[in-house]
Amino acid sequence: MTGHGLLSVAEALARILDGVEPMPVEEVALEAASGRVLARPIVARLTQPPFDAAAMDGYAVRAADIATLPATLDLIGEASAGHGFDGTLGAGQCVRIFTGAPVPDGADVVVMQEDTARDGAKVTIVARPSSATHVRPRGGDFAQGQALLAAGHVLTPRSVTLAAAMGQPTLTVYRRPRVAILSTGDELVAPGTMPGPDQIVASNSYGLAAMVAAAGGAPQLLGIARDTRQDIETKLALAEGADVLVTSGGASVGEYDLVAPALEARGMKLGFWKIAMRPGKPLIFGRIGTQRVLGLPGNPVSSIVCGHVFLLPLVRALVGRGGAPEPSVRAVLGHDLSANDGPRTYYMRARLDRGTSPPTASTLIDQDSSLLSPLAAADGLLVREIGAPAMPAGTAVEIIPFEA
Ligand code: AMP
Ligand code: MG
Repeated sequence: MTGHGLLSVAEALARILDGVEPMPVEEVALEAASGRVLARPIVARLTQPPFDAAAMDGYAVRAADIATLPATLDLIGEASAGHGFDGTLGAGQCVRIFTGAPVPDGADVVVMQEDTARDGAKVTIVARPSSATHVRPRGGDFAQGQALLAAGHVLTPRSVTLAAAMGQPTLTVYRRPRVAILSTGDELVAPGTMPGPDQIVASNSYGLAAMVAAAGGAPQLLGIARDTRQDIETKLALAEGADVLVTSGGASVGEYDLVAPALEARGMKLGFWKIAMRPGKPLIFGRIGTQRVLGLPGNPVSSIVCGHVFLLPLVRALVGRGGAPEPSVRAVLGHDLSANDGPRTYYMRARLDRGTSPPTASTLIDQDSSLLSPLAAADGLLVREIGAPAMPAGTAVEIIPFEA
C-alpha cells in the first residue's frame, strides 16, 4: 500500500501473478510452432549430417594421392546430393562430387573444382586444400539423442529450422491461454461503423488483442457491451471457459460504472480495484474460479499502458515464459524532467533515439491519456516512482520497451 491507501504497482502485479501456472501442453506442427514456448526439451532423433558430406563442388580424392602435385587421377564416377557413389575409391582414383553428396568410401578430401583440370576420364589436381578437407563430418552439427532446445525456449524461425533437422514433426508447447476481451460503453461503435453524433470508435480492445497475440495468447473479442448491467452480464457470459477475462471501461466510481458489480454477479472474487498508478487508477483484479479477471480503464492510453504492465506479464506466465518483464533499455534522458510529487507511480510515454549510444529518451510533450497518436509514436515507458526527484538532461534512465 502507498500512503494514499492505493495498492502499489509491484504489489498489484504480484497479486495478479500469484499462483499462475503455465497452461497444459499440446502438440503443434513445426509450421505453427514459431513464437510458442517449448514445454519439453527437444531431443535429436537423427544425427546431422548423417554422413560425411562434400562441402564444395569438385573431386573426392584420397589425401595420400595428392601428397605431391600435380597429380593425375582416374575419374571413376559421380556423387551428387541425394545420389551417392556406390563404390570404394582405390589408389589413383577420384569421383566427381557435388555439395551435399556423401563422400565415397575411401576418399577423405574434396578438392575444389577450381583447383583441377579435366581431360576426359583423367583429372589433374593442381592445388589442394591447405588445411580444410572440404568435408562436413558426420555428426558435426549434432548427434542423435542430444537435447539442443531446452524447455521454456521461445521458438524462433531459427530454432524451428533446427527442430525440423532434428527430425521432430511436432513439438510439445504450452497451450495458448484464451483471453476474452470486452469493451463497455454506450458511446462505442466498432471500427468501420460510422459513429453517431455522440459516439466514438472502440479502439483499445484491438490493441489489447494484438498485445495478447504477440505474447503467445489467443485473444477473443467479445464486442461492445452497452452501459447496462444486463448487457454487460450477457456479454460477460461469452467469456465462459476463457483463461483470462479483460474488460475495458466502466471501472471507476461514476454513475454508469457497472462492470465490477456485473463481474461480482458472475461470481468474481475481487482482489483489488485501485492502484497507485498513472495512468490507470481504477483497475479491477479478481478471479472467477480459475479465470483471472482484469478490469482496465476505458481510456485507450490507460488500457494499453495497464495492459503492458499487468496483462502482458500474466499472458507470458501462462504461456510458460514466466512473469518477468522484457529487459528494459538503458538510455540517457534528453531533457530535464520534473519531480514526481503525485501519489502515484507515473508511467510516462517516451521515445527512444537509438542513433546515440546509449539511446536518448525523451518523454512525449503531451501525456494526456486520451491521445492515441503520441501513444502509437512512443517506443516505451519511463517509470517515475512516487517521490522520484527532478532529473536533469543526461541522467541515466531505463525505458520499458513496448516491443522488444
Ligand atoms: P470509462 O473507463 O468507461 O469511464 O471510459 C473512459 C474514457 O475512455 C471515455 O472517454 C470513453 O469514451 C473512452 N473509452 C472507453 N472504452 C473505450 C474503447 N474501447 N475504445 C476507445 N475509447 C474508449
Ligand atoms: Mg464507459
